[in-house]
Amino acid sequence: MLDWYFKTNLLVRILIGLVAGCIVGIILGYGSPETTKAFIANTSFLGDIFIRLLKMIVVPVILFSLIGGAASIAPSRLGRVGLKIVGFYLVTSALSVALGLIFANLFQPGSGMNIVGSEGAKAVERKPPALADIFLNIIPTNPVESLAKADVLPIIFFAIVFGIAISLLKDSKDATLAKGADALFEVVNAAAETMYKIVRGIMEYAPIGVFFLIAIVFARQGPSALGPLLLVTLTCYLAFIALVILGYGGLLAVFRLGLFTFLKGANEALITAFVTRSSSGTLPVSLRCAEENLGIPRSISSFTLPLGATVNMNGTAIYLGVCAMFIGYATGHPLTVDQQWIVVTTATLAAIGTAGVPGAGAIMLLMVLESIGMKVEAGSAIAAAYAMILGIDALLDMGRTCLNVGGDIACTAIVAKTEGELDETKWSSQAAPGA
Ligand code: ASP
Repeated sequence: MLDWYFKTNLLVRILIGLVAGCIVGIILGYGSPETTKAFIANTSFLGDIFIRLLKMIVVPVILFSLIGGAASIAPSRLGRVGLKIVGFYLVTSALSVALGLIFANLFQPGSGMNIVGSEGAKAVERKPPALADIFLNIIPTNPVESLAKADVLPIIFFAIVFGIAISLLKDSKDATLAKGADALFEVVNAAAETMYKIVRGIMEYAPIGVFFLIAIVFARQGPSALGPLLLVTLTCYLAFIALVILGYGGLLAVFRLGLFTFLKGANEALITAFVTRSSSGTLPVSLRCAEENLGIPRSISSFTLPLGATVNMNGTAIYLGVCAMFIGYATGHPLTVDQQWIVVTTATLAAIGTAGVPGAGAIMLLMVLESIGMKVEAGSAIAAAYAMILGIDALLDMGRTCLNVGGDIACTAIVAKTEGELDETKWSSQAAPGA
């Protein structure tokens, strides 16, 4: 059995875990609540092990790979790559919200429901962070504290500054300083390599973790529990698919890159994102897929992917658009065109501020709703509609996180191509990227 496990292709094993998890979860969902409860209580730790292992490696991976990445690019080039990637991230985020709104206008999820306020809408007392704080907090007052708290944006900021300083010192006229900077650079790179090695080991556990994570989601929600929320789920997922085919497919095609090859090369990261619901947690896998399957050099991906895992949330942007519309329809106040324009802006910014952890998007939805005057106050109709969305958050989060990660990798591939650094043999029709 163990022999079969370790000899079978990793992707095949993950897919088996995924499908088996769905089946077992759905069966449990139909079974007695006691059995489901017992299953969840006794097995949830097996899924949590996978999440914890990924979380364990996130901070060191970001730190070492980003310092190494920033130090290996000349400061002038870092600025160019940075501008390009931020440009692509902004364009895809705004496109995503727009797609979400278009699909929500087409399908009108929630229309005719006429939700009224109830006492059952208590799950809404979380406060969204203010936008100014999101930007200010990027600069750490104490980098060690940021590392300890796994605050990704400040870590990224510090690592880039650190890397640039190494890169400048490497060119120092003082030979001792230059030698020291070279040595530091080697150490950081070796540390990053060590982290990737650990990631490969962690992925060997992925099939088991995936099985339990997915089984528990389905056991809790069950397909029938979707009820009136089926349409909002469907709208989100159709918009997700449209973004992949039209948005990513179109953008990649402009740069003569194939969508199919992209999906094949990124699939391990996409599946990991789907089941862990965490872009940050998926980062180690994304970095590996980008390098090994898609031929993206680490000097680019180690800078753009950690940044993307934190600021580029295409799936979340779609979700914010669709859900704001759903809440409008469901409460009998469909969003006006003006309100929808505001949603495009605030949802793009909110997506940037969304942390790459499970459920973070649902908190940012509060900010978007507030921006169009829909206050989520306990007991109100808006709160009830919001609580409904929270009920299926896991299902929506799986899809949106998958796109959050997919968007980062697609934009990174394009930037690598425009920098003339993409190993295009991985993209030729003969190449078969995979696990
Ligand atoms: N779970 C998402 C992610 O990690 C964020 C969100 O909740 O929208 O990318």
